Amino acid sequence: MDYVFAMPFARVPHPSYGEQRIPAYEMICFSINIMRGCFGGCTFCSITEHEGRIIQNRSKDSILNEIKEIRDKVPGFTGVISDLGGPTANMYRLACKDPKIEAACRKPSCVYPKICQNMNTDHTPLKELYREARQLKGIKRILISSGLRYDLAVEDPEYVKELVTHHVGGYLKIAPEHTEEAPLSKMMKPGIGTYDRFKELFEKYTKEAGKEQYLIPYFIAAHPGTKDEDMLNLALWLKKHNFRADQVQAFYPSPMATATAMYHTGKNPLKKVSYKSESVETVKSPEQRRLHKALLRYHDPANWPLIRKALRDMGRAELIGNGKNQLIPAYDPAEKTKKYQAHHRKNSAAAHKKRIKSKLRTQHTGLPPNAKRKKKGLKN
Ligand code: SF4
Repeated sequence: MDYVFAMPFARVPHPSYGEQRIPAYEMICFSINIMRGCFGGCTFCSITEHEGRIIQNRSKDSILNEIKEIRDKVPGFTGVISDLGGPTANMYRLACKDPKIEAACRKPSCVYPKICQNMNTDHTPLKELYREARQLKGIKRILISSGLRYDLAVEDPEYVKELVTHHVGGYLKIAPEHTEEAPLSKMMKPGIGTYDRFKELFEKYTKEAGKEQYLIPYFIAAHPGTKDEDMLNLALWLKKHNFRADQVQAFYPSPMATATAMYHTGKNPLKKVSYKSESVETVKSPEQRRLHKALLRYHDPANWPLIRKALRDMGRAELIGNGKNQLIPAYDPAEKTKKYQAHHRKNSAAAHKKRIKSKLRTQHTGLPPNAKRKKKGLKN
């Protein structure tokens, strides 16, 4: 990895883009990848399949050199590195204690159902990397924006302290993904109890540092193994903890993910599959998917009629009302707020067609005239 990252990259977009704004470039231009791979094995994700379960790490020198390269080469650098991360921010140099066991092990995850006793959870190399990176001349701040595996982080409270004191830019993204055991067991994610332990440490060290910063938990709707009741319990948890999810992730079967096998077969491949094996409930109908997403955004008045009907059908009408422990009000507001629209709807083929005025031209349908060639009097 060090060899690849030491190559003389220009670190700017290809000149053919000219002065165009490239949002993806803006996101990564001050960000550094410190490793590849993930041993989490979350079933909805295929990073383990793409990058491997054994973490490949860059050397500390290689990473520090890249920070200096960014500082010296990238236009617009203000001294803030936006991320020192990878698939999981805190798996740097974490590995099985014994390489022989690691080579022979066939477990899909080193951290589910609990952290394997053979896993070395010492975050010292990562803490040292953070400390040295902060000392570099011209570097004002190093942020950690990659997702964090908080069940591993709580094993090393000193790491949480280091992170919270120096590397959180106001908000820290973490992904409990759900609160209920049934969907969590199908995702191969730890229980919400570990989240509470991490939150305690996060708040303690935030207070000690005299800062104001918040945790942003992410959740998935409609994952295989999720019942309407599970989503309702998640919505009640969100309300109790005063969280209002802005964006909603709904499970979508993607190539190579184990949860995709659950989605298509309705069976649980995490255990031996036979005609007698456990069936997994899958959320496929557009109505049920809409309800699961709506429950994640229980605070949006546009979702209240749908949630109200579902609560009545589930025999949970007591949750409708203005009480502290009730989920949604009995009446819609006089003036309806703008309806929430998922991003994929805005970017759908139909929406795209409406947006573009003329037919898109490709080399097969005839490219638009090339202005430069025309100027030179050449044929297009
Ligand atoms: S023995 Fe444990 S730590 Fe080692 S590779 Fe297997 S699951 Fe991971």
